[in-house]
Amino acid sequence: MPAPLHSHARSLDRGMSEDVRALSTRVIDPRAASKGFVVVALLAMPLLWWMAESLWVHADHETDATRALRDFADRGDANGVDPAPSSPRPLAILLVDGLRVDEAERSPALRAFRAGALHGTVRYPRPTLSTGAYHALVTGTPNRLSGVFTNRYHLTSGGGVARVDSLADRVRAVAGRERYVAEDLDWLLQLLTPRAEARELFTGQAFDAAARDAFAAFARDASPGLLVAHMLAVDESAHETGVDSALHAAALGRADALVAALHAAVDAQPALVALVIADHGHLDVGGHGGDEPEVVRAPFAIRGAQIADRDGDTLELAPECVAALLAGATGSATPRSSTCLGEQPTPGGLQRVAFAEDAARRQRGLHEARTLGLLGLGMLLTLMGLGATTRSFSGLDAGSVVAPLVWLAGAAVLHLAVLGRPLTLSAIHLVNPHVVAVGVCGAVSGALGMALGAWLAIARAGAGADPRLALRRAAGGLVWASIAAFGLAWARIGGAYSPWPVTAFAAYAPVFLAAAGVGALLAAAATLLGTMAKREVSYYERPTVGGSAPPGPGDMT
Ligand SMILES: [Zn+2]
Repeated sequence: MPAPLHSHARSLDRGMSEDVRALSTRVIDPRAASKGFVVVALLAMPLLWWMAESLWVHADHETDATRALRDFADRGDANGVDPAPSSPRPLAILLVDGLRVDEAERSPALRAFRAGALHGTVRYPRPTLSTGAYHALVTGTPNRLSGVFTNRYHLTSGGGVARVDSLADRVRAVAGRERYVAEDLDWLLQLLTPRAEARELFTGQAFDAAARDAFAAFARDASPGLLVAHMLAVDESAHETGVDSALHAAALGRADALVAALHAAVDAQPALVALVIADHGHLDVGGHGGDEPEVVRAPFAIRGAQIADRDGDTLELAPECVAALLAGATGSATPRSSTCLGEQPTPGGLQRVAFAEDAARRQRGLHEARTLGLLGLGMLLTLMGLGATTRSFSGLDAGSVVAPLVWLAGAAVLHLAVLGRPLTLSAIHLVNPHVVAVGVCGAVSGALGMALGAWLAIARAGAGADPRLALRRAAGGLVWASIAAFGLAWARIGGAYSPWPVTAFAAYAPVFLAAAGVGALLAAAATLLGTMAKREVSYYERPTVGGSAPPGPGDMT
């Protein structure tokens, strides 16, 4: 007499065909499951990479806040002319990419330049990537409103011109002179002018010579104008060899000479206003993008006749306020969408900021709702994946748990201790070498985790242990964990870098887990293939519908 079933179980049981009953109790062949997991791991590697990459592709999208900045931009008077004087002083800018505050303090030429000049530090928001900083500096708008965050902007914006009115637009409005020179990279110049022929690119010493000549030529005239010289070597050398290297010292020496040349130009032309500024700092080992103190702060100094040093070192600016400060110093109009309104804001300016901030708040709210949905879906898929992993290898053991934990903890420890880099975007000194290094960390810690996990499972099982099954369970657990960890980190930021994630770690986690995950997936796939290399005698019995065991071993492969 069978035990009485609950009503719902009875009704389910009645409706179940023999085929379904057989399927639901079928034991999966571990060899076939291993093959399946190898396929999953091989498919997941490009998928993880593609999803991590897609975060960057869509990072710099225009938002409602950007449109508000443009819709409520200053319009000037009835003829569209700015209320500022029609003949502002000329402005020369030297942007030393990646110059740290401490390096600026050690630079003899910069110390002389800022003596008696308006100077201090700029505090940049995350991500401390160059293009976001350039955009904020030249437009007077913060990145969270302009939507410009990453160096992909030049690829995704169709031309790389600033999204809203810039310093260069104000100079063109008064028919001022323009001169743009850069070393190796024209990203800053693209923001300033859509005319490719107006962007002069040089390499190394040729850039120094061009910039020196440009400073001297620009200083011969007191008429309005904008000269921008963008030096890259300080940033590039820090990325390549860190800030204590000879390469970096040589770049700093070149920057020092350029600051001296600019100083001489200001001395020669009383009307000239000169700015020396950096767009971010660097870690000692090289790298920026995160929120480390040496990365978010960068030096600036504005020099010119009748420009007084206000409070010495204490002046700390948001990058969007540099344009307003320059407008004050040169007597020109601020960029028309600027959100740095000063002490006497105009009604138009207040309206612009209110609408843009409101749009940004709305975008953040919608994004948080989307993030919650994606996180819920991610957790559901993670649980389903765990169920599938459990079922594929006829249960979990200590190895299934230990392998993922050792992988994750090991990859983080190797990242911090061996690579010597924080878990933020600042870790990326050079993209490809870094990603490969993190992948190797992931593979090594994953292999260690599987070995340790399998060993533990075998030790716990005692005499009846099956080493091959233990390895498969550890590898299966690792495949599941590496996909789940990336998926949850990706969902945690709503699958987008726009708006930018709220913590530096959340922004870096998808990059870290994609690279470490691909490493772990490679190690797990290799381990699973290893367990299939030799033909095996199956230890389990093939279940049958009738309940009678089939004769002989039940190897289905
Ligand atoms: Zn850089």
